Amino acid sequence: MPSSEFSIIEEFFAINSAQGMMPTLGIGDDCAVLDIPSDKQLAVSTDTLVEDVHFLSNSDPRLLGHKALAVNLSDIAAMGATPTWVSLAITLPAIDKGWLSSFSQGFFALAKEHSVQIIGGDTTRGPLSITVNIMGLLPNGQCLARSGAKVGDAIYVSGTIGNAGLGLKKAIKADVDQKDPDVGSYLKPEPCVSLGEAILSMANSCIDVSDGLSADLNHILKASHVGATISHEDMPFTQSVKEYMEENNDDLWPYSTGDDYQLCFTMPPQTSISELATYDVTKIGVIEEKQGLRIKFNDGKLITLNKGFDHFQPVSGELGISTAE
Ligand SMILES: [Mg+2]
Repeated sequence: MPSSEFSIIEEFFAINSAQGMMPTLGIGDDCAVLDIPSDKQLAVSTDTLVEDVHFLSNSDPRLLGHKALAVNLSDIAAMGATPTWVSLAITLPAIDKGWLSSFSQGFFALAKEHSVQIIGGDTTRGPLSITVNIMGLLPNGQCLARSGAKVGDAIYVSGTIGNAGLGLKKAIKADVDQKDPDVGSYLKPEPCVSLGEAILSMANSCIDVSDGLSADLNHILKASHVGATISHEDMPFTQSVKEYMEENNDDLWPYSTGDDYQLCFTMPPQTSISELATYDVTKIGVIEEKQGLRIKFNDGKLITLNKGFDHFQPVSGELGISTAE
């Protein structure tokens, strides 16, 4: 590695190193070495963000630093794990110290919030992309898998759905209002880490809503060999999302938009959610034996959904959706 790259890692990645659970060996050696407590198992996930696919070019690097870690924390949350360690690889067209400084500030502010320790990093020259490898700890024998949904389970979703998708539509406009809450949902998602930990021993299945509720809930349904009906009127849509649906005469739009980073999970119907009183969760439907994901409207209309965000489409492209009875 050229010395300039080494100094980038030292200068920007090795800061704030005394938080969370320390590795046996961290940044500065060929590998990090981690000591896993004997009563724990390791949850590991990797996510890459690519310019013009997952984020807009000229994105604020501080927000990008936040989002790069947030989307990975969201995967850890979806497993019910406690985030612990993270490594980071950045590909940049040129070494830009101002960009790196802002990026690392956004990244580390969120890392600190969740007591996540950075254990390694790499920088390479090329088109802008960011890859984060995140690790979390789970009690032995426990995790929130996609495959655990049972017929009769109640389906819940956290927060609100569709705001990040709406925020993206607003963010690509020249006169973007950075204070608009929908734009904030898109640019600065807050991962549901403590909710994931809270439902670890309650939920039968869980996924984070990254690609759109219909696509992500369909992952649970396929993995669990079940189907579901969700009630459109029970969905947590904000006024802004409702207005967008009305203006575009498209009630199905928020089911196909990604980037909300909420949790969608299923629990046995008798489970009391009083333990989740401090969280914003909404019951939206029921797991059924009949395969497929159905949206039920108050007027009796039933629509089957099966698509969400397509990773091979550009970020500003229209998202595919298909409807059928
Ligand atoms: Mg995920």
